[in-house]
Amino acid sequence: MRNLDINSVWSSLLSTLAHRALSPTSRLHWIYLLSALLMALWTYWLSRRQGEQRSLPEYLFPRSVWLHSSAITDYSYAALTMPLWTLLAVPRLLSPTQVSQHIIAATPHWLLPISPTAMPTLAVALLYTTVLIVTGDFELYWVHRLMHRIPALWEYHKVHHSAEVLTPVTFYRTHPVELLIQALAEAVTIGLVTALFSYFFHDALAPATIFGVNILRFAFFVFGANLRHSHIWFSFGSAAEHIFISPAQHQIHHSSDPRHFNRNFGVEFAIWDWLWGTLHCAGRKRPLIFGLGSDENRRLSTVRQLYVNPLRATWWSTYRFVRSTAFTS
Ligand SMILES: [Zn+2]
Ligand SMILES: [Zn+2]
Repeated sequence: MRNLDINSVWSSLLSTLAHRALSPTSRLHWIYLLSALLMALWTYWLSRRQGEQRSLPEYLFPRSVWLHSSAITDYSYAALTMPLWTLLAVPRLLSPTQVSQHIIAATPHWLLPISPTAMPTLAVALLYTTVLIVTGDFELYWVHRLMHRIPALWEYHKVHHSAEVLTPVTFYRTHPVELLIQALAEAVTIGLVTALFSYFFHDALAPATIFGVNILRFAFFVFGANLRHSHIWFSFGSAAEHIFISPAQHQIHHSSDPRHFNRNFGVEFAIWDWLWGTLHCAGRKRPLIFGLGSDENRRLSTVRQLYVNPLRATWWSTYRFVRSTAFTS
């Protein structure tokens, strides 16, 4: 019986991992990797015209990036964190569906509309699809901004910014505490939107999807999501970069140059950065140095340090706070 349980846990874990790695909901799905490759080939063609000397393999896969110690740490960190996250099933603790069901259940009956608002199903689906993505991105902008702004949260977000080179795997260099905060914020935001739509349009709610992925998120994944964490400079041009965050803009977000600090917090849309004065358009291609500076980089250079150091910082700041409060009262 015990063996059976362990086997079922293993098979469930492996199938969840395979689903995460191979499903179009994962940004490492082959469709998005292929589109990133095509975009990178386009930049290679342009740079050849401007005198690029390297061969295509050297341009796409330089050893100085893909075999950098920071990249190797990313691979190990992702290999450990993805199964751990799946095993703990933390994201399932509070799902958007649960939030929306709680809100609907808590809404007094006399507040509910008597009949669903008459609107064509397709129009509702398109509106729901757009509102889901836009509000989700708005929430991500503010959570990301607060991660930089509040010292206690920055300790965790530093893990992502300590990468000295960027590869698509760097996306997974995120501390579990940050993943938990993101999952909870997303559940509340998407849950609220879903509750609101259920309120007005009743049950038949389904966003427009391609391969099970929200159609707008699919477009984001296709148009260079995997180049954001890479050495390939891909700009959308200044006008479009006021609306959408380009891969080059996210690379600027990772720059260790103080002129680039607290810029480009957006994930899909740049509108929030534009509205709140944190936008930095990519401009011309230029070399960027990533990371937090040599001392900080060294303190966050192994998988163990990436996991433990933020927790240790929280422990010591809490300890100092409690001690100072106890002595002053
Ligand atoms: Zn950041
Ligand atoms: Zn990043």
